[in-house]
Amino acid sequence: KPNLLIVGAGGVGAVAAHKAAQFAEDFGSIALASRTEAKLQQVAQDVVDRNPDITLGEDIVTETVDARNKEEVASLIRKVDAGIVLNLATPYCNTAIMDACIETGADYLDTAVAEEEHVENVPAPWYANFEWPRKPDFDKADTNAVLGIGFDPGVVNVFCAYAKRHLLDAIDSIDIIDVNGGDHGRYFATNFDPDTNLREIREDVIYWEDGEFKTIPHHSRKMTVDLPVVGEHDVYSMGHDELHSLPRAFPEAKRIEFWMGFGERYLRVFDVLENLGLISSIPVEVEGVEMAPLKMVKAVLPDPATLAEGYTGEVCIGCDIRGTKNGKPRRVFIYSTCDHTECFREVGSQAISYTTGVPAIAAALMLARGEWDPKTMVNVEELNPDPFLDVMPKVGIDWKVMDLPVDGSWPETSGHN
Ligand code: NDP
Repeated sequence: KPNLLIVGAGGVGAVAAHKAAQFAEDFGSIALASRTEAKLQQVAQDVVDRNPDITLGEDIVTETVDARNKEEVASLIRKVDAGIVLNLATPYCNTAIMDACIETGADYLDTAVAEEEHVENVPAPWYANFEWPRKPDFDKADTNAVLGIGFDPGVVNVFCAYAKRHLLDAIDSIDIIDVNGGDHGRYFATNFDPDTNLREIREDVIYWEDGEFKTIPHHSRKMTVDLPVVGEHDVYSMGHDELHSLPRAFPEAKRIEFWMGFGERYLRVFDVLENLGLISSIPVEVEGVEMAPLKMVKAVLPDPATLAEGYTGEVCIGCDIRGTKNGKPRRVFIYSTCDHTECFREVGSQAISYTTGVPAIAAALMLARGEWDPKTMVNVEELNPDPFLDVMPKVGIDWKVMDLPVDGSWPETSGHN
């Protein structure tokens, strides 16, 4: 049984720690690592409190590490003898953690594409910047790297693979739709790391159409959708990691686009922050101190992990996929829903962290059980979706398929700007 090293003990890392503990029989031991010992201790104690069979210091250990430092990560992997490294820190840590896995031969998993600080509007495809060039190194090390296995990117990529394998003979278009119908009661907050989240919303939207990446201003394409459980919402075309790998696996798709729901208040506050230059990653000097405005905004926004208590409502995330089956048009919506209050009751987290941590641990189980063993670097849609979608409900998130009318479209309207 491989030992599991989870790097990052924020909202997602905490869910992963709880879920790993629930599946402790599949892992040797669980090590939880980040820079702040107090946060690690808090998460580990909560895991032990909710899982009486787990012993602190034996089944789960905490380790401090700077995950942007390859040498530190490599020596930690050796120290805890990790067979699987689950990267749930910030995307700024990806390259160091990947390189440490290549050096030590540990398997690598993450939930977000690598980013550099103080760099904006990165060229597509994003995975070609830092991840894919390392594929030959993973080949040489004879080890696994599974990229982007949160919910989106992650499960939605798996849904596409499942649709191609079981539901459609050919895929014409993929619309990934993410709606958080929940209410955290705060004036303005992001559901995961504000640095990553506000950056991805602010950047120009890159989506795939007619064999090429197209770039449009953010919030300039909008439609209204009516989804299971969460109901009717306005969703906006947005740049997202999965658009940068899916065209490789589904080259026949004429369009692949990601849509995220935003409420009126969120958009108003976002506009003000953006127009003032407060979500820029480019540092400015303030009284002799160089600081990216976005870092300052992050410091004053609520910590995403603290939103969990009192968060009500549900999220619905899925793929609206159009294509043909047996020569006839078919359109399916493959989706999951998740209830914020239920997540808090079970593991003390909100649904955005939960829907990321659960698939990450389901993927770790795939590697631990040998169900996935590509011995190279892959984006998750390249793997067999069946065992993963079989185990995910057992780890905590169910999924469903519904047919949608082939001639119906979500009513598309103009954008917000
Ligand atoms: P948080 O900000 O809550 O947590 C980040 C964690 O990483 C903290 O524990 C932080 O601890 C740790 N960390 C940051 N920098 C370092 C470092 N240099 N060395 C070691 N540890 C570090 O973020 P979330 O938990 O909300 O998100 C985690 C990841 O999941 C992000 O990459 C995010 O983009 C991704 N994500 C993916 C989703 C998907 O569906 N695919 C959805 C939501 C999130 P400390 O500061 O103490 O070191």
